[in-house]
Amino acid sequence: MERANPCIGCGACCAYYRVSFYWGEIDEVVPGGFPSEYVEKLNDFRAVIKGTNQPEPRCAALAGEIGKTAHCSIHCVRSSACREFEASYVNGLPNERCDQARAKYGLEPLTPESWRPHGVPTAA
Ligand code: SF4
Ligand code: SF4
Repeated sequence: MERANPCIGCGACCAYYRVSFYWGEIDEVVPGGFPSEYVEKLNDFRAVIKGTNQPEPRCAALAGEIGKTAHCSIHCVRSSACREFEASYVNGLPNERCDQARAKYGLEPLTPESWRPHGVPTAA
């Protein structure tokens, strides 16, 4: 049975934090890397994703409406920073940063229940 993925349609973290990563990940350096059109230079070592380095961040690659239809338009080549950000309870532990981003958009924090396959009964 397929597992529910509450990140689908959410996208709140992509419109809450500044997202930066090692410059060497971009496609000008490594074929198939993060698309350079979506980055700006942060410093000599790090790139920052366009749209995230401003008072009301929203990643330039985020499509759709947060909490409803949001999705990453470059999912397959997203940065290490994007891949490493963990949703609350995806691995059994809460992540305050996920909760805070969701709260900004009026979304409840995730719980362990958020990750249960649909229709699977729980014990007791
Ligand atoms: S590149 Fe994709 S996963 Fe990373 S912040 Fe932007 S929309 Fe989110
Ligand atoms: S990690 Fe959290 S804030 Fe980011 S998309 Fe998933 S549920 Fe939403």
